[in-house]
Parts: sequence; structure tokens; C-alpha cells
Amino acid sequence: MTQSDIQCIVIGAGVVGLAIARKMAMQGYTTLIVEENEAIGTGISSRNSEVIHAGLYYTPGSLKAKLCVSGKEMLYQYCQEKGIEHQRLGKLLVATEDNQLAKLHNIKETAEANGVHDLQLLSPAEAQTLEPNLHCVAALLSPSTGIIDSHGLMLALQGDAENHGAQCVFHSPLLSVDIRDGLFHCQFGGEEAIELSCEILINAAGLNAPLLAKNFKGLDQQYVPNAYYCRGCYFTLSGKSPFSRLIYPMPNETSLGIHLTLDLGGQVKFGPDIEWIEQVDYYLNPARSSDFYEAVRQYWPGLPDGVLNPGYTGIRPKITRPYEPAADFRISTPAEHHIPNLINLFGIESPGLTSCLAIAEYVYDALKVSHNEQ
Ligand SMILES: Cc1cc2nc3c(=O)[nH]c(=O)nc-3n(C[C@H](O)[C@H](O)[C@H](O)COP(=O)(O)OP(=O)(O)OC[C@H]3O[C@@H](n4cnc5c(N)ncnc54)[C@H](O)[C@@H]3O)c2cc1C
Repeated sequence: MTQSDIQCIVIGAGVVGLAIARKMAMQGYTTLIVEENEAIGTGISSRNSEVIHAGLYYTPGSLKAKLCVSGKEMLYQYCQEKGIEHQRLGKLLVATEDNQLAKLHNIKETAEANGVHDLQLLSPAEAQTLEPNLHCVAALLSPSTGIIDSHGLMLALQGDAENHGAQCVFHSPLLSVDIRDGLFHCQFGGEEAIELSCEILINAAGLNAPLLAKNFKGLDQQYVPNAYYCRGCYFTLSGKSPFSRLIYPMPNETSLGIHLTLDLGGQVKFGPDIEWIEQVDYYLNPARSSDFYEAVRQYWPGLPDGVLNPGYTGIRPKITRPYEPAADFRISTPAEHHIPNLINLFGIESPGLTSCLAIAEYVYDALKVSHNEQ
């Protein structure tokens, strides 16, 4: 193998790229994090619900299930070690009609199969003792669900990575990669177009990850999924929160439903809803609030008129089409595409924030296996 400029390049300074770069740097690899924007966390990682998920819904054995459940514990511990703001508020998953009861019980079974054993099934009276404003016919209390300051988390990950010698470079979009002689020759744009070679390449470019991988010369395109975008908008509530826990309706095939979350300042937001779009565009249509009033009143009938305000939007990095069931995380490793030392992270939607530290371990282990096999 010819000499590379650097050992490891991570594309994308979102929560996933930063967590992986931290792991690689802490393992002694010289690591460069390359970001096309001006700062860390300007993509999906800054436009989400900031919830630490418990791992209730995901298919047992899937990467989402495994990495969420292990990632949650790692994340709580990391928050404590680093003083990252978070709160283990707990969440109520609510059935608001009798015909949702079977689904509620199924979710409890799925969660238990995923290793989440602290759930409690509550009667309407028990749920209302906890949350007097709630309407439900039954609820599942998940005590290990929480909220986190996602930007604080990303700063801590960046700090750890840099303390172990990693460097972040901004305004440097990756344009294409030529895979030859056992190295990745990466072309970057920006003010100064440069080429850098590396031994290990990790594509954690979020919404752009599939589009970028389509420009990796030498990678068989059958291992690159198509990208689809699903926007979710949030509305905030004027005034004080009527709830002290997170409230989730029953999920559907594509999303967790319009739920109520709190931020660390106690402000309530509702969302995200679902809108499939052709290209990345963060527009929020205020008229969508009428659907929010209707959905939220299923579990909070006392929601007054005129109190929802447009908040922000986020975009899910989908690799399945509308109305197809959500895909698992697709962490494409050398075992799949047969190129040593290349990892592509596709479809890292929710619970990617919760799972970031576990994803980093998974990626590192996959690289170790690939290295031993060379
Ligand atoms: C609406 C919504 C709500 C969510 N809520 C939750 C939640 O409550 N809990 C949870 O666990 N998860 C949640 N998620 C999922 C979570 O936010 C994501 O899984 C996670 O943020 C993905 O991080 P990332 O680093 O992969 O992507 P990103 O944060 O998007 O980072 C990718 C980075 O790559 C950069 N980039 C792109 N192209 C290039 C290029 N060519 N060259 C260089 N850099 C490039 C981008 O600028 C960006 O900074 C939610 C997601 C959405 C959309």
C-alpha cells in the first residue's frame, strides 16, 4: 500500500460522525473530520426531538433495537461523566381508543424482547394520577426515556476527539472518492479544492450519504441505496407545559406519531409530522397546525385554540419509499461491499441520536474485523 496523507477521514460533523471520530481518535488513529458547513451539528442532528429513546418499537434483533438499547445506557453514562445537560423524564405511550390496546400490548412485548424490562402498564386512573390532563384508555410508562442537550453532546464528542488529536475541517464538501491502491483518494471542494488520501473512510454525511457514495469510484453501486427525504415539522406551545413527561400516541409504519416532548427549558413542542419531499428543504407550512390540533386532542382534549406556533422542521434520511415500512439502520461495512476500511452509514434516522455512541463501537468493531481479514 502507498503512504496515505492521513489514517482516517470521517465525512460529516453530525452526532454520528463526531461519535465515530472520537472513537477512532481514542483508539490512536490520526483522524480528520471533514464537514461541508461552517460548524458541527448543522444537519439532522440539530433538527430532531432530542429524546433519549428507550428502545420500545424496533424489531428485535435489528440494529435499531440493539444500538438504541445499548446506546441509551452509554449515553446516560457519558452525559453524567461530561456534565451534558439531560433529564430522565420518562414517557407515557398512550392508547386513546380501545382498538389500540392490542398494539400497546404488542409494543410492550417487543420492548421486552429488546431488553427493556422497566415498562409499566397503567390504567387510565393511574396514568391520570401522573398526568392529570391526559386522556387515555391505557398507557405504558417508560421510565428510561429522557431528553438531552444534543448540541452539548456534540461539543463534548468534538472535544474528546480533538483532545485525542483529531481535527475538524469546515467549509470542505467531499465531492468524490477514487478507491485505488488500497487507499481512498478524496476530492474536496470549498474555497480551496484539495485532494487527500486516507486508509480508512467513514461516510457519515447524513442526508447526503447515499448521494456521496454514488460518487465513490470503485464501489459497486448495488451497495448504495437511493435517498428519500421525509420532512417532519414541529409546533411549539405557548405557555407552561401541562405535562411533566413525554407523551406519545400509537406509532404508525413511518413515524412515532405527533408526540409531545419537552426541552430542557421546559418548553413543549409537538411533532414531527410526515411530509415526503423531493429535495432537502426546511420550509414549515403554518397551515399544517390544523392537523396538529386534531392529533394532539386525541390525548390532550384540553388543548386550547390558538396556542400552537410554528417551530422548526427536520428531515429524515430515508432509504425506503413512502408507505414502505421504515428500514433498519444500514451500516454498510466491508462484510457487505467487500472494500476494506470503508464504512457507509445510510438511513441513520431516529434513534440515531440515542444510538450514536453504540454506532461508533459497531463501526470500530466492523473495521477491526475487516483489518484482521486483510
Ligand atoms: C425529525 C427528526 C426527529 C428525530 N428525533 C430523534 C430523537 O428524538 N432521538 C433520537 O435518538 N434520534 C432522533 N432523530 C434521529 C437523529 O437526529 C439522527 O439519527 C442523527 O442526528 C443523525 O446524525 P448524523 O451525524 O448521521 O447526520 P447529520 O447530523 O445530518 O450530520 C451529517 C453531516 O454531514 C455533513 N455533510 C453532508 N454532505 C457532506 C459532504 N459532501 N462533505 C462534507 N460534509 C457533508 C452535513 O453538513 C452534516 O453536518 C430524529 C431525526 C429527525 C429527522
